[in-house]
Amino acid sequence: MSDAAQAMSKGWVKIVGLGPGDQALVTAQVQNVLVEATDIVGYIPYVRRIAPRDGLTLHESDNRVELDRAAHALRMAAQGKRVVVVSSGDPGVFAMASALFEALEAGPAAWLALDIQVMPGITAMLAAAARIGAPLGHDFCAINLSDNLKPWDLIETRLRAAGGAGFAMAFYNPRSKSRPHQFARALEILREECGGETLISFARAVSTAEEQIVTVSLAEATPEMADMRTVVIVGNRDTRRVGSFVYTPRSAE
Ligand code: SAH
Repeated sequence: MSDAAQAMSKGWVKIVGLGPGDQALVTAQVQNVLVEATDIVGYIPYVRRIAPRDGLTLHESDNRVELDRAAHALRMAAQGKRVVVVSSGDPGVFAMASALFEALEAGPAAWLALDIQVMPGITAMLAAAARIGAPLGHDFCAINLSDNLKPWDLIETRLRAAGGAGFAMAFYNPRSKSRPHQFARALEILREECGGETLISFARAVSTAEEQIVTVSLAEATPEMADMRTVVIVGNRDTRRVGSFVYTPRSAE
């Protein structure tokens, strides 16, 4: 075996989810690979969740360089490193797993022989839903409200289609400083498609010390209730309160 082939056979890449924030919500599988890693790659706040130790190099990068970050991880694995790419929540939900496969597709064919594995994590909408009750107990969908990687028109089309079809919905990246008006528009569309009585929950920083969860009707909802640390869950027309909980029945007519 050549030196390069030998290095390739020792290296690996695991793309892992760190869950919504609470250390207890990191899976045992992910905790185990973090112990074996030589290199951690990811967006700054996620890499900061990993405890430094001897023999471990932490590579922090900015938010918008996912493809570079993914290629960097693959290059290091090809050199024999044991690389963990970290995302918050689940790595397959609006996160690094797709970016890594995009980089793999665009990269040298030799990378296809690398040992690559995706490890799931608890995504924000499921952590939030569990705190709220069971708002996603019937059919639902997840929509990323950021228009960084797709046109806003497409987001409006999907909101109308999902609301009109009676899906409960989870919204990631609902509102940022760079696009303050779009979430107001999203609320307007939802009121039209779902009706003002439909319940909407704003779950911020779930499972952390700053956690805040508020449920109101769509008629009462205001854009300021969401920020980039919030996942928003809209119920369907049957979603209702019981005691302090919100749930969606498992059946529909
Ligand atoms: N891969 C992540 C999502 C990344 S997109 C996951 O599976 O959860 C980033 C968005 O996720 C944020 O804008 C917010 O909408 C949501 N999010 C991530 N962590 C959260 C948390 N602890 N509480 C509420 N929302 C969260």
